Amino acid sequence: MKTISLVVPCYNEEPTIEIFYNTVEKVIADNAAAFEGVDHEYVFVNDGSSDGTLNVFRQLNTAHPDTVHYVSFSRNFGKEAGLLAGLQHTTGDYVAVMDVDLQDPPELLPKMLTMLQTDEYDCIGTMREDRAGEPFIRSFLSRSFYSVVNKISKVQIIPNARDYRLMTRQMVDAILAMPEANRFSKGIFNWVGFRTTYLKFENQPRSAGETHWSIWQLFDYSIDAIVDFSDVPLKIATFTGGLLSFASIISIFVVIIRKLIFNNSASGWASLVTILLLIGGIQLFCLGIIGNYIGKIYIETKHRPHYIVQEEK
Ligand code: UDP
Ligand code: MG
Repeated sequence: MKTISLVVPCYNEEPTIEIFYNTVEKVIADNAAAFEGVDHEYVFVNDGSSDGTLNVFRQLNTAHPDTVHYVSFSRNFGKEAGLLAGLQHTTGDYVAVMDVDLQDPPELLPKMLTMLQTDEYDCIGTMREDRAGEPFIRSFLSRSFYSVVNKISKVQIIPNARDYRLMTRQMVDAILAMPEANRFSKGIFNWVGFRTTYLKFENQPRSAGETHWSIWQLFDYSIDAIVDFSDVPLKIATFTGGLLSFASIISIFVVIIRKLIFNNSASGWASLVTILLLIGGIQLFCLGIIGNYIGKIYIETKHRPHYIVQEEK
């Protein structure tokens, strides 16, 4: 008998958990053929919720002690930590990660499982067909994000791909072998390799509750995506510095020649101030880039745990 583990990170999701559980159970019951010979287990992660999320987990676990497990953090550690904790607590031969708000439709699970069992793929990912129902500014920013990241990063991030995916145990073990503290899952999934294909689905509204992401957090997330998987910004800083040095050497010659031939090198102080400001700005910008990397190194060298578990079942 094989087992499929469903990893579900939850942060203040009291209203959505039971809807999720019932929907998944129904999908499994309705697709008995696809789930033939495959047990399932849930690994819910309570990411430091301040509402009744943990209580819902406890109730589900009491009612279904064999299939429902949960890990509860001592505070909010973020979705990436939740995913990691969930993956670490799975025992299944196949592992799916999904959101609890039904924006990752469980109806795809039977198809994903069947495809994975053909041994043609190690991972069945999902992507949204469009971003219908999302504010224009958000979809615009996300499009720009993907195009920048994919240009400068060593890993490719598929636009509109969700974290929602079904993986083999082998791929999960590869992901768990990556020790970094800065965990950008979309990049990690891609970095470990393996044969992956994507199913498309239509954008789904949240079953209940509200999104936890603000535009600012998404911006922060984009910076992480770039810094965690690429050193191109550092190279850009080096290149810019080199270019400006070269330009200044040329301008030194221009000034000297002007002094020698025309004897009027003092004119143009306004342009001089502008150039000083420009160079100061570029220096700060480059320092910021370097600072971002140093900040990441600082976090990595502390070797702090990725999360702290307060309760698990
Ligand atoms: N989530 C989490 N920790 C956080 C924020 C979100 O575990 O700090 C979970 C959340 O409960 C949900 C999933 O991550 O299951 C996706 O979050 P959300 O639906 O808010 O994001 P969106 O779908 O709007 O991108
Ligand atoms: Mg969501």
